[in-house]
Amino acid sequence: MARLDQLKAENPIVAVVERYGVQLQPSGRNYKALCPFHEDHTPSMYIYPEDGGFKCFGAGCGLHGDVIDFVGYQLHGLQWDKTNPPMFQAALEALSAGPSASVPGEKARRRKPPTSPPLSHRRATDAQADREKSLTPMILAALDLAARVYHEHLITLGDDPETPLRYLYNRGFTWKTVRDGQFGYCPSHSDLLQVAAELMSVPREALLEAGVLRPTRSGHGDYETFYGRITLTDRDFSFRVVHLIGRKFPGDNLREEAPKYLSLPDWPKPLYGFASLPYKGHGPVMIVEAPLDMLTLRQWGYDAVAVAGAEMKGQHAQRLRDLERPLVIIPNNDRAGLEGAERWREAIMAGERLRVLPLPEDVGGKPVKDVNELAQVERGQDIFADLVRRRLGLEGARSTSRGASRPQRREPARTRRR
Ligand SMILES: [Zn+2]
Repeated sequence: MARLDQLKAENPIVAVVERYGVQLQPSGRNYKALCPFHEDHTPSMYIYPEDGGFKCFGAGCGLHGDVIDFVGYQLHGLQWDKTNPPMFQAALEALSAGPSASVPGEKARRRKPPTSPPLSHRRATDAQADREKSLTPMILAALDLAARVYHEHLITLGDDPETPLRYLYNRGFTWKTVRDGQFGYCPSHSDLLQVAAELMSVPREALLEAGVLRPTRSGHGDYETFYGRITLTDRDFSFRVVHLIGRKFPGDNLREEAPKYLSLPDWPKPLYGFASLPYKGHGPVMIVEAPLDMLTLRQWGYDAVAVAGAEMKGQHAQRLRDLERPLVIIPNNDRAGLEGAERWREAIMAGERLRVLPLPEDVGGKPVKDVNELAQVERGQDIFADLVRRRLGLEGARSTSRGASRPQRREPARTRRR
């Protein structure tokens, strides 16, 4: 694993994509390009230097992945299958052979590597280096372990009354959403993660650096960051766990003033769910604040992302703008929510393509504050579908490709390779 991460660090995605003769255009902190894997007339492929990933938003294409996938598709076309050991090995070899190596299956479009790296390349390489510096293999291992340990614990507790799983069911989530979203639970006074880390030889420092463990103020021992919370997992394009979010679990009596949602301390707050947007989506992408609202929308079959901490950073705004799909902000039904929506709208700057869809204030006398509360009133899902139809005039706004919250393995059957 460490060797793989090193290989990726030595071969930043932007440099590799350019090596294969793809012309990049800067797009904020990312790049876009004509997709080399389908007949592309407007740049549909985005390259995300900080995530080390690429994703094509072209209708019917949707190829995506990390730098190894990119090389894999170049070598094997749509036959590329990461789980096939000889194919995987071939991709690794091509990648490690570096710029001077001959690239099979890639004669026509190949061009010589530039003698001095273009500006775009340098910028991206730096960004990549920053990222590598921060998301080390040990930190990734710590995050992955935390996601798994808490998920297992949630399941182990079962779904009797008062359990976190029952709480999630009561809020309308299905088992499939819980499993695919890797919901977890970190109880009060937990040492689950610390015990597991010891068994798995993940050092304490990695847990601390990842932010899933915190030293106590007194200096005596540590505590687990998400104690008393349901945990949600965010992954990047390479399907690695890159962030965890904790949601207050009412059964745990956290202090009143404890925030409802907690992200990992000392890390930028994520645009939760962005990397798992389906690659064949055409309908609108709904933007909400709370991850649970986002997961409700996905369960209903809409594409959605959550702006963790309600903080729409420039980079997030750019990514959403770049999607070139209708965008719909669904604010929480209070003053903060509506003001936040206005700020997001100004940040995203997507013109007519961006709409704001307020929820009904109440349904049958029951106040509705957010999407998940709407899910708990009778016919909540129908009411929402009706709202989308009437207010946005968007028939078929639900994603055509799936109703799950995580990408399935790629489905390249309808694409063709040039
Ligand atoms: Zn494509």
